[in-house]
Amino acid sequence: MARKKDRLKINKAGPFFVDSSCIDCGSCVHIDPEHFGQTGNSSYVHTQPSSQKEINQALLALVDCPVAAIGAPKRLTSQISNDIFPIMVTKHSSGEVYYCGWSSKLSFGASSWLIRSSEGNVLIDSPRWSALLARKIEEMGGISKMVLTHRDDVADHSKWAKAFNCERFIHKEDADAAPEAEHLLTGMNVIPISKNLKLIPTPGHTAGSLVALLGNKQQILFSGDHLWWNPSKKVMIASKDYCWWNWSEQLKSVKKLLDLDIEWLLPGHGHAHRFKKGEWEIALSQTLMHAESSEDSLSY
Ligand code: SF4
Repeated sequence: MARKKDRLKINKAGPFFVDSSCIDCGSCVHIDPEHFGQTGNSSYVHTQPSSQKEINQALLALVDCPVAAIGAPKRLTSQISNDIFPIMVTKHSSGEVYYCGWSSKLSFGASSWLIRSSEGNVLIDSPRWSALLARKIEEMGGISKMVLTHRDDVADHSKWAKAFNCERFIHKEDADAAPEAEHLLTGMNVIPISKNLKLIPTPGHTAGSLVALLGNKQQILFSGDHLWWNPSKKVMIASKDYCWWNWSEQLKSVKKLLDLDIEWLLPGHGHAHRFKKGEWEIALSQTLMHAESSEDSLSY
């Protein structure tokens, strides 16, 4: 629980605050950029929410924080239930997509996503274990498959796999992070794991990074840490600074995605984004042009 005595001085005066236990994972900023920002060392409240709608969004960030570093008075926190997650992002012809919340310190606050479909529900990356979230997912039909996009975001995968007896998929190159996974993928070929969901190996950020692609038209891309959106610059980021394995391989992997028809980009870290028809290829081409010509891919 966030402590008032550890409240960071940089917070805007008012009821919401971030305390010194913040690990600067950015999750609150992705959920509620209108009120939370990052200094480079931590997050903070840059604007206090005023309307009820704004308060609700700030409360979502508070509940999601992996280390409970966000505080607010009880009169506000009592307005939100701990079992608020998962939250629907979009209804796609191939299934409903939800944000799972319960981001984990183990995956540095990475986002995880649930696809609810008649083919069986799929968890994309692992949230923190939560009996409350597990109960909600059970009511939604459980989990039949779990895709682990790369080694960093496996969090509590073992607990989720045990609870739902689901099959886990991870690339062999990152499999030391989840050696018990039922499916260790090899090579660079696209791997369909159901009628509407395929996995595309995209080495670069890590040797075993992969993305998951839902649907055939107006697709949804679960991009792990391969790509994410920067809302202030309105560009897609492939980050050399956060490339742990091989940057030139990552750029090759980015190129592989040019022909897609992406409507939603749902990353592990960074902001999600919805594209209009035709915007994806333009945005990704710009990212590639910038990344190939720049030493620092974050200098947008
Ligand atoms: S979600 Fe919590 S730990 Fe992460 S940046 Fe925000 S306050 Fe810090």
